[in-house]
Amino acid sequence: MADWTREQGKAPAAAIAPSNGKKVAIIGSGPSGLACAADLAKLGYDVTIFEALHRPGGVLEYGIPEFRLPKDKVVAAEIEAVKALGVKIELDVIIGRTVTIDSLMDEEGYEAVFVGSGAGLPRFMGIPGENANGVFSANEFLTRNNLMKAFRPDYLTPIHAGKQCVVVGGGNVAMDAARTAVRRGRRRQRRHGCRAYRAAPRRRDHHRLPPYRGGTSCP
Ligand SMILES: Cc1cc2nc3c(=O)[nH]c(=O)nc-3n(C[C@H](O)[C@H](O)[C@H](O)COP(=O)(O)OP(=O)(O)OC[C@H]3O[C@@H](n4cnc5c(N)ncnc54)[C@H](O)[C@@H]3O)c2cc1C
Repeated sequence: MADWTREQGKAPAAAIAPSNGKKVAIIGSGPSGLACAADLAKLGYDVTIFEALHRPGGVLEYGIPEFRLPKDKVVAAEIEAVKALGVKIELDVIIGRTVTIDSLMDEEGYEAVFVGSGAGLPRFMGIPGENANGVFSANEFLTRNNLMKAFRPDYLTPIHAGKQCVVVGGGNVAMDAARTAVRRGRRRQRRHGCRAYRAAPRRRDHHRLPPYRGGTSCP
């Protein structure tokens, strides 16, 4: 319904309150930063999002694969809708490195800062072999594929991919990694963490098995 409404141009125009002259900085352009920015802009705040990466969207852009969340059709359209409310987005700005929260508030006139920096760091298990070549966190694997286009031969940021793939875990992130590996031509695939697999929280569409090509899987 949301896709149809957007494609037909039938989304109702948002009511925007008159400017109240107050500046708010948002750190991070993921769903939380975008939602916060949109709500504040509608209330009349002057909102700027600062994003460390070269593209906005957070996990929507670098984590969730294109086949599940189309970047141009859905993510870019959502971001344009937020910008249409008057929200500014500055890319390639790492808050804490490029500028600090103190300088935003003391020198640039921001009266409030919303930290929507996500939880992008993977948690490793501390087991032997996890630093070996060919072992990736899902975060790195998906970012290299989605944001750095490792699947395209004309990009200079390839990723090592073996013939068989093991995915540890069974939630949304593990399933996105597994489905990405299948699409990158991994012939055999095994997911581990099966005892927790049925209980793992993930979207309903992930419960259907990914399109294995003669592969094996745990559940
Ligand atoms: C592969 C994957 C699949 C998922 N699937 C689902 C799903 O199907 N359904 C669901 O509900 N949830 C899903 N999630 C979870 C969901 O994506 C997250 O809960 C959501 O993205 C969190 O939003 P956020 O805005 O808090 O953080 P993020 O989306 O992580 O965005 C944070 C942003 O802040 C930026 N940032 C960080 N530090 C700085 C800094 N110092 N300066 C400037 N910018 C900074 C980052 O670059 C990033 O763009 C999934 C997550 C992953 C990784």
